[in-house]
Amino acid sequence: MIDFNKTRILLEPNEIPKEWVNIVPDLPAPMTPLINPMDGKPAPPELAFAIFPKECVLQEVSQEPLIPIPNELREIYAGSYRPTPLHRALSLEKELGIPGDDIKIFYKNESVSPTGSHKPNTALAQAYYSKRDGVNELITETGAGQWGSALSYGCNLFDIKCTVYMVRASFLQKPGRKILMRAYDAQVHASPSNLTDSGKLYYESDPDHPGSLGIAISEAVEHSMRSDKARYSLGSVVNFVLLHQTIIGQEVKAQLNKIEVKPDVLIGCMGGGSNLGGFMIPFARDKLHGILPDLEIVGVEPRACPSVCKGDYRWDYGDSAKKAPILKMHTLGHNFIPSPIHAGGLRYHGMAPIISILSGKKIMSSVMHHQTEVISSGLMFAKTEGILPAPEAAHAIKEAIDQALAAKENKEKKNIVFNLSGHGFFDLLAYKEHMMGNLVDYEMPREEIEKALSAPDMPKIDETRF
Ligand SMILES: *Cc1c(COP(=O)(O)O)cnc(C)c1O
Repeated sequence: MIDFNKTRILLEPNEIPKEWVNIVPDLPAPMTPLINPMDGKPAPPELAFAIFPKECVLQEVSQEPLIPIPNELREIYAGSYRPTPLHRALSLEKELGIPGDDIKIFYKNESVSPTGSHKPNTALAQAYYSKRDGVNELITETGAGQWGSALSYGCNLFDIKCTVYMVRASFLQKPGRKILMRAYDAQVHASPSNLTDSGKLYYESDPDHPGSLGIAISEAVEHSMRSDKARYSLGSVVNFVLLHQTIIGQEVKAQLNKIEVKPDVLIGCMGGGSNLGGFMIPFARDKLHGILPDLEIVGVEPRACPSVCKGDYRWDYGDSAKKAPILKMHTLGHNFIPSPIHAGGLRYHGMAPIISILSGKKIMSSVMHHQTEVISSGLMFAKTEGILPAPEAAHAIKEAIDQALAAKENKEKKNIVFNLSGHGFFDLLAYKEHMMGNLVDYEMPREEIEKALSAPDMPKIDETRF
């Protein structure tokens, strides 16, 4: 007998979590500070307040285990897209030949947000706090445009100006996201631009310069320093972004409780670490408190950009232009340039400090997959569950499929839960290339990683000074 309530598990709008879960006080090693790249010392709060929205800075360093989500913000989540559904992937299970209830696959569907990913969870929070504190403009960078469109949506809702520096190569190749940002009234500039000193450095010698995330970050930071009513906004990596994303994991917990399912493994893709962080932190906290001692948590990276699997844990710049704060994290080096043949996303050189600490202390593990098998898994998911996933999210799908098949082989019982971080409707190019047989696998060679990590401009931070 099918129990329909167990196929798509919904929560009522008033069941939206009332608090975010802050894992920082529970981490098995102390959180490391953000370092000012100008002097190599921990960034003083005044400097951080001048760059980021104030409440976000306070949350970044908070030692409170639970931080209230303002009611006004909960109301906006509720009216827009939260709580998001948790699905049992019954058609995918059937395709994999795992009938019955011994092996179950569930996915949290963050693709139902207005811009198609988990990123509005933090964009709305950052826009809300900015509006409350009298900030009238948020500036950011975007690569493919997922973060830029989420922030544009959030700013438009709170009547704040939004300016996005978009890597020129994407600006030209991916007009869809640019149009979406403009639909929300954001200003979108191809980066490098001639609007900032950092941009001019490149623009003046080559107006067609393809740009990079590093240059776009420098432009956005510089622009935000021009007015005391403007702030810079970040969409991943830092503690406060992972904090805002914990709304995902808390909903998953409530949803699994409703159907009395205990998860055996949680899986998410990792770029900067925010969707996986938000999804697993409420469970990781239980694991640290001995409540779910056997729970496995797995982060999935592309073989072309394996920050945790193959990078070092050390101090590094957040951006290639060396203007953003220095963080202690797993990194491939700020000089890392992703291979142009890699189409699967998740290209950031570093990883969230929270994820880095949890990985180092073996609270979670990480794996890598090749892009052709990832995109193939994405297509299998589209054919069975109907949603064409973002290539990033397809990394988690690939790992969930592998784990289900291994459990079947070993005749194990297993409850597998993964985070579907977004849909792929603006990323059709990767699927097209795959269908045309143009997608090839690329593994970052060891020597290249070692070269990037031994570059003379890697920061040397003296931890005894703070
Ligand atoms: C941005 C993005 C990611 C990667 O970023 P994280 O901070 O690691 O979550 C993954 N999936 C989707 C759909 C994204 O938009």
